[in-house]
Amino acid sequence: MLRIGLTGGIGSGKSTVAALLAERGALVVDADRIAREVVEPGTPGLAAVVAEFGDSVLTAEGALDRPALASVVFGDPAARARLDAVVHPLVRARAAELVAAAPADAVVVQDVPLLVETGQAGSYDLVLVVETEPATRVARLVDRGLSADDARARIASQATDEQRRAVADVVLRNDGDRAALATAVERFWVERVRPALG
Ligand code: ADP
Repeated sequence: MLRIGLTGGIGSGKSTVAALLAERGALVVDADRIAREVVEPGTPGLAAVVAEFGDSVLTAEGALDRPALASVVFGDPAARARLDAVVHPLVRARAAELVAAAPADAVVVQDVPLLVETGQAGSYDLVLVVETEPATRVARLVDRGLSADDARARIASQATDEQRRAVADVVLRNDGDRAALATAVERFWVERVRPALG
C-alpha cells in the first residue's frame, strides 16, 4: 500500500486533484466528508457535540445546525478546541478504518485540509501539497459562492504556503487551467506513484 497525504490551502484545488487521482485508481479518503458523516443524526459523534454545546446547535429536525455551531466556535479558540477534541479523534478513527479495509496494493490518498495544522505529515509515505496563488484561490472560491472577504479570511486562518512546503515531498502548482493540472497529476502518477508501487 502507498499512503499519500494530500493537502493544500482552501481553494488550492485539493478536491480536484483527489478526483484526478481517483480516476487513475487511487482510493480517496476525504477528511471533510468523514467529518460530516461522524456527526450525522443518530451518531455518537452528534450526541457528543450536543453534550458539549447544548441543543442550540441542533436544527428542529435534530440534525447538526452547522451555522449555529459555527457561530458558537467562531472567534472563540477554547470552544473551537473543545469541538476539535470531539470531532478529530472520530475522523481519524473512521479514516483509519477505511485505510485498513483497503487492499494491500492500494494507492490510498487521504485528502486532509489541515494536515499541516494538525501535525500529521509523518503519517504518510508521501505528502502531496497543492499550491496556488492566493489571488487565484480567492477568485475560484468566489466562483464557488463565497464572498471575497470570507475567502481571504479563511486563507489567512490556515497554515502558510511556506509551512506546507516545509513538509511536502511533492508540490503540485495549480495556477493554470484544468488541463495543465491533469497533466501535472499524470506526471506525478508516472514519476512518483508507479515507481513506489514497485
Ligand atoms: P480545495 O479542495 O483545495 O478547496 P477545489 O479542488 O474544490 O479546492 O478547487 C476550488 C475551486 O476551483 C473549485 O470550484 C474547482 O472546480 C476550481 N478549480 C480547481 N482547479 C482549477 C483550475 N486549474 N482551473 C480552474 N478552476 C479550478
